[in-house]
Order: sequence, then C-alpha cells, then structure tokens
Amino acid sequence: MTDCLFCKIAAKEVPARIVHEDDDTLAFEDINPQAPKHLLVIPKKHIPTLNDVVPEDAPALGHLFSTAALLAKQGGFAERGWRVVVNVNRDAHQLVFHVHLHVLAGRPFHWPPG
Ligand code: AMP
Ligand code: ZN
Repeated sequence: MTDCLFCKIAAKEVPARIVHEDDDTLAFEDINPQAPKHLLVIPKKHIPTLNDVVPEDAPALGHLFSTAALLAKQGGFAERGWRVVVNVNRDAHQLVFHVHLHVLAGRPFHWPPG
C-alpha cells in the first residue's frame, strides 16, 4: 500500500521511534501520546480495519497481542495495568486505515471508555 502511513513506517520511508520489530510485526511510539506510555503495534501486512480481517490473519493478529504483552513486561507496566484499544472506522475515530493496537499505560483508565 503505497499511500498508507503505517506501511511507510514499516518500510522505513517515514521515521518513527521503533521499540520492537520482527518478521511480521512493528511497534513504535505514538506521535500524539494519550498516556505516559502509548505504543502502536501493527502487522507489517496491510489490513485496513478489523472489518477486513480474514481467518488466515489469525496468527499475525495473535502475534500482535503477544508482542504487546512482551512490551508491557519490558516496559515495566504489566503488573500495574495497561489498556489495548483498536479503533474501527468513523464512530470509533479510526484515522489511520492500517490495523493497529494502541497500547496505553502509566495512568488509570476510565470505564466505560469515552
Ligand atoms: P487511530 O485513530 O486509531 O487510527 O490511531 C492513529 C494513531 O496514529 C493516532 O494515535 C496518532 O497519534 C498516530 N500517528 C499518526 N501519525 C503518526 C506517526 N507519523 N507516527 C506515530 N504515530 C502516528
Ligand atoms: Zn498499510
């Protein structure tokens, strides 16, 4: 996807503060953090939204969560707590149409979410 910001970050065409990379997954700091810790975890494969996920994507999406858990342990916020958010389309305020986990930590979060 040539015009996708997160594909460009994965291709190193756009700079980002990368905190983890492997064959299938990239994690980097959100440019506009909503908590003291705010990471984005993406599949390298371009998937626009969760609506577009197909069964073959299951291993890659599972890997996003195990990467998030690894980053929580490495970042020292696993025990205190953290939140994962995935926004889907306009009611959820999705702005970048490449699936991403928001990993948020470092403050208490409200429930229900806003
Ligand atoms: P969403 O609204 O769920 O699509 O989230 C998109 C996220 O991408 C927002 O939290 C933005 O702050 C973040 N973002 C946008 N551009 C960049 C960038 N160049 N590097 C890192 N994060 C970005
Ligand atoms: Zn993309």
